Amino acid sequence: MANETRTMECPWDLTTYSWKIEADALNLFVKGLKDKKILGRKCPRCGTVYVPGTSYCRKCLIDIDQVVEVKSEGVLDAFTVSVSDIRGNPVEKPFITCTVRFDGSESLVMGTLEGWKDWHDVKEGMRIKVVFKDVTEGALADMAYFQLI
Ligand SMILES: [Zn+2]
Repeated sequence: MANETRTMECPWDLTTYSWKIEADALNLFVKGLKDKKILGRKCPRCGTVYVPGTSYCRKCLIDIDQVVEVKSEGVLDAFTVSVSDIRGNPVEKPFITCTVRFDGSESLVMGTLEGWKDWHDVKEGMRIKVVFKDVTEGALADMAYFQLI
C-alpha cells in the first residue's frame, strides 16, 4: 500500500499556489549554485542537514548556522507527469516535475527531471544528479534540471 502509485487525470493550475521560503536559506542556496555547489545547513544538536539551509532546526527548534556542502546527487523522492500545459493544452512531449533529496540531506528540492524515455519507467528512489547551466549567475535557474543517472 505504501508504494502504491496513484494516477489522477485533471487540470492543475499551479498559478493558484503560493509559498514562502526563508530569504536567508534561499540566499545561501543560490550563492552555492553560482559556484555549482549545493549548500545547506546542519543542526549541531541532531545532525539534520537542510537544503535549502533553514535558519533553525525543525526538530530541535534551535538556530543553526553551520553551512555544509552536500553532493549534487541524490534520489528521486516524488514526481508528477504533465501531459498538458498550465492551461490544460496538450504538450508535444510530457514533462516531469519532481522533488529530490540530495545525499546527506533530509529535505527536498523541486525541479524538472530529464533523462527518461517513457515516464512509466520512472520510479521513486531512482538516482539523480543536478545539471547546472554552463554559465551560472546565482539564481535558482542555475540548476537547469535533474538528470537520471
Ligand atoms: Zn536539530
